[in-house]
Amino acid sequence: MANQLPKVPVVIVGMGWAGGIIAAELTKAGVKVVGLERGKGRDTGDYYMSHDELRYSFRHEMMQDLSKETVTFRNNEKMRALPMRSYGSFIIGDGLGGSGSHWNGQNYRFLPYDFQIRSKTIERYGAKKIPEGMTIQDWGITYDELEPYFDKYEKMAGISGDPEQNPMVGKRSNPFPTPPMKKTPVMKMFEEAARKLGYHPYTIPSANLSEQYKNPDGIERAACQYCAFCDRYGCEYGAKADPVVTVIPVAQQTGNLEIRTFSNVTKILHDGVKASGVVYVNTLTGEEFEQPADVVILASYVFNNVRLLLHSKLGKPYDPSSGTGVVGRNYAYQVQSAKAVGFFDDKEFNLYMGAGALGSIFDDFNGDNFDHSNLNFIHGGGIRITQTGQRPIASNTVPKDTPKWGKAFKQASIKYANSTLVVGTQGSNMPWKHHYLDLDPTYKDAYGVPLIRLTYDFEDQDKQMAKFLGEKAGEVLKAMNPTKMEVNNTVNAYDIVPYQSTHNTGGVVMGADPATSAVNTYSQMWDAENVFVVGASSFPHNSGYNPTGTVGALAYRAAEGILKYIKQGGSLV
Ligand SMILES: Cc1cc2nc3c(=O)[nH]c(=O)nc-3n(C[C@H](O)[C@H](O)[C@H](O)COP(=O)(O)OP(=O)(O)OC[C@H]3O[C@@H](n4cnc5c(N)ncnc54)[C@H](O)[C@@H]3O)c2cc1C
Ligand code: SF4
Repeated sequence: MANQLPKVPVVIVGMGWAGGIIAAELTKAGVKVVGLERGKGRDTGDYYMSHDELRYSFRHEMMQDLSKETVTFRNNEKMRALPMRSYGSFIIGDGLGGSGSHWNGQNYRFLPYDFQIRSKTIERYGAKKIPEGMTIQDWGITYDELEPYFDKYEKMAGISGDPEQNPMVGKRSNPFPTPPMKKTPVMKMFEEAARKLGYHPYTIPSANLSEQYKNPDGIERAACQYCAFCDRYGCEYGAKADPVVTVIPVAQQTGNLEIRTFSNVTKILHDGVKASGVVYVNTLTGEEFEQPADVVILASYVFNNVRLLLHSKLGKPYDPSSGTGVVGRNYAYQVQSAKAVGFFDDKEFNLYMGAGALGSIFDDFNGDNFDHSNLNFIHGGGIRITQTGQRPIASNTVPKDTPKWGKAFKQASIKYANSTLVVGTQGSNMPWKHHYLDLDPTYKDAYGVPLIRLTYDFEDQDKQMAKFLGEKAGEVLKAMNPTKMEVNNTVNAYDIVPYQSTHNTGGVVMGADPATSAVNTYSQMWDAENVFVVGASSFPHNSGYNPTGTVGALAYRAAEGILKYIKQGGSLV
């Protein structure tokens, strides 16, 4: 029998970027909030002298414990899904700050095209351009409507960016709050080569601060030291925007936020129309609690936002055979395998210095910035070079013809440790009728809740796009004059084993039509007006960028909607 707790106005499930932003905005407005986080608490002191590659990169110190909870996966419905027992394709955040504590900080806004992808594609190419089974849809909001929320998020995080307006992206109402990161010789080489080919490179907008910055909430943070231990690590300087050093302390200072760590939510309580609270387990003691609340906010990342709704039987589950229902629909990912690797025998770069978001990119082949009339795919991706920092264990790129062991292998490893550059691509990913999330019929987590099952594969659209982007990446690398180069522009079946990207999206998508979306543009559920589901689960497709800038903007919009809802009740649209 669960312990009954007194009712609270708002309960948030998950305290990453989505949960943290909402907690800050509600508590500043005087609303009492309880934040339930399944992992432990964190602060920057935890990361002091902790550049331990084995512990953080390989043993995933900051990630979800897969022995307690994981995801099952299959490429298609004919296969039996199996649990991901060790980390591969993506790594799921856990603990205060979520993945926002160990992300890289590459920070973009999705393109105006993204938000109106279906109508803009039909307008330019006709309805036949969208293949059968591809379930792209407009997001129910335009870039211009979302722009003020991007602005708010970027000011909070102190995003460092290029003052020269990139002509390929949406218009900004304000310049970036801080100047761009330093331009390394590698970035200069890439930009020079890209410009020579007629493209428009710019410094990647960064949540690693280029200079000391005080945000509108009065939070002051130090500049990045280019220590190169962002990705999978916390930042001991607080230079990387992380919910733990930005929004969470702001919420705590109000006295209106109570955070309960080690609190794993297993169910949403509801009567079919409205939620009345959540059930959670204290993972240290095993005790179960019932936390009643007027408003329930799910901010537990894509997989658990979907899993909690399905397990709690809230919202209409997606049925892939009819294409009806919404919870679990439009899962998408990212296509990152197309790249060009260059070996420079006559040059050495300082690749062990870097920062999570240090790099340059161009968008000439992203979104609909180029003519797709004669191409067998829509959208595209960013082409970029990053200097996130080589690692002693993980980094060992050598030419393909190098022996796999012995003297020649060692010589090549030493020779190319600081002389290998990769021009990479970040391809968008479209949703399909047969790509979805549902509850696994066989496997359960440590608390008896079914695991989420992922049914997903790369499609011809992805293969064609990767071929195209890989060729373009190769052209840029060639213009950088490497001694040897290798281009990979093939995409095979999706394999959950090698790491690719933790940019999972969809499952509780937003839109203007309840038949094809689970939430409205305030992240409010159509089927339960006091439930808000926030995060990349609301993306109807994934763009050719990292997602968190757009997650942040949508979280600010959701917070505005929740405050409106608390005041007036009812549907927000
Ligand atoms: C290594 C890495 C690098 C990345 N780099 C970038 C980048 O450069 N740029 C970019 O845009 N994005 C990047 N990302 C993605 C980015 O981190 C995420 O988009 C973002 O953090 C998502 O925020 P969120 O709040 O939606 O989810 P999360 O950060 O995952 O937070 C969800 C929280 O909910 C908690 N939770 C889950 N289930 C429950 C439950 N049942 N009960 C209670 N709590 C629960 C989790 O423990 C977690 O703390 C990266 C991700 C990783 C892993
Ligand atoms: S590279 Fe910069 S932002 Fe990243 S962890 Fe190091 S100091 Fe922090």
